Amino acid sequence: MDFLLPADDDPRRVEVREWLAAHPAPSGRELADAGYVAPHWPRPWGLEADPVHQLIIDDELSKAKVRRPANPIGIGWAGPTIAFAGTDEQQRRYLPRLLSGEDFWCQLFSEPGAGSDLAALGTRAVRDGDEFVVNGQKIWTSGAQYAKYGILIARTDPDAPKHKGISYFVCPMDLPGIEIRPIVEMTGGTTFNEVFFTDVRLPAENLVGDLHDGWRLAKVTLGNERVSLSTGGVLWGGGRTALDLVEAVKARSPVTDPHLRQRVAEVYIEHTLLDLIRLRTLSARLKGQQPGPEASIRKLLADEHGQHVMLLARDLVGASAMLTRTDDADDGTAGSSRLVPTTGGMGLDHPGWYDGFMFSQALTIGGGTWAVQRNIVGERVLGLPHDADVTQGMTWAESQRALPR
Ligand SMILES: Cc1cc2nc3c(=O)[nH]c(=O)nc-3n(C[C@H](O)[C@H](O)[C@H](O)COP(=O)(O)OP(=O)(O)OC[C@H]3O[C@@H](n4cnc5c(N)ncnc54)[C@H](O)[C@@H]3O)c2cc1C
Repeated sequence: MDFLLPADDDPRRVEVREWLAAHPAPSGRELADAGYVAPHWPRPWGLEADPVHQLIIDDELSKAKVRRPANPIGIGWAGPTIAFAGTDEQQRRYLPRLLSGEDFWCQLFSEPGAGSDLAALGTRAVRDGDEFVVNGQKIWTSGAQYAKYGILIARTDPDAPKHKGISYFVCPMDLPGIEIRPIVEMTGGTTFNEVFFTDVRLPAENLVGDLHDGWRLAKVTLGNERVSLSTGGVLWGGGRTALDLVEAVKARSPVTDPHLRQRVAEVYIEHTLLDLIRLRTLSARLKGQQPGPEASIRKLLADEHGQHVMLLARDLVGASAMLTRTDDADDGTAGSSRLVPTTGGMGLDHPGWYDGFMFSQALTIGGGTWAVQRNIVGERVLGLPHDADVTQGMTWAESQRALPR
């Protein structure tokens, strides 16, 4: 594994530095126009940058302390799908403002009866002239209350097999008939929502790609992975790391309880192993290899590691941890543990640790639960028999009922 990036005088580095000299505090729009928000995207939205070029741009932006606009669903999911399957008109209308962060996006996929088994979704979109009439309910929609648009998957052919007959839409979140109800989380925050659709009239021009081809599109963006050198924190890249916890422990006082000492060592070992897996994946990408099912192994380990780190922080603080929340923080980090910067000191008494403990319960659910990830590892890495859902077209609940007792 060799991660020596091209030297300081590499022309691609010089180009970014010259641009930064001309734009010392670039806006989201300036970054988007330069192609620096998603450099791996096709032109004109990105620079068609290969993995090394992406790392160079990341490196130069980070040295200049320039942050990209925060719009994870827009830039990570909606944008690549629209760039791949959208019409020219859709690309021109949505991509520039999505990249610049001017329009925040949300993802309207999960439903009360369709999470892991997403293809079981029941929200209907029925064609009526130049519009689709949408009825149904979505749930766990992060940021819906702030979003200008959502990517929506809905059933357009109820008679087709469940993975067919689903279509992919861009949904303006201010259409009449859309009701957004925030869900209060155990952290006290309200980052996700229930979204109800009652006779919502969605213009037919908001269909992305072909009618009934939404399932394929919903999977397109999974392959659209940006390479990155940074680890980020244990809360899906936000918040703190195991090393921050070790530093906080050292700064406080010696840990005398042998069991707790062992756990400190364990999270440090997990951190080191995850770092090695990350470097191995990065090394493969730099050699032009595509990510495989090992991404599921890393997600499994990283999510459980996040929970171990946060649980240990809570246990080290003791009962008083329960009396604090990030709302109490007076250093600008109030609101969400994931927003706590990933560098710099944070003593064990900082409420971000406890808030992080509360949030960390979500890690093994969102983006594919721990059980689903294990199924993927079992089937695709270990070659075990398929999940009943895949082989027999059952839902997971049906397959459980069908098991011999
Ligand atoms: C913080 C957070 C943010 C989210 N944001 C969004 C968002 O913005 N947009 C959106 O659409 N969704 C979002 N989600 C929803 C997320 O994608 C779903 O929670 C996830 O897919 C799991 O679905 P579910 O909650 O319906 O659980 P279910 O699928 O009902 O699972 C329930 C239990 O059954 C187990 N299970 C299910 N299937 C299998 C199987 N085949 N084998 C073994 N065990 C199984 C699961 O592991 C779990 O323990 C978010 C979730 C979280 C936690």
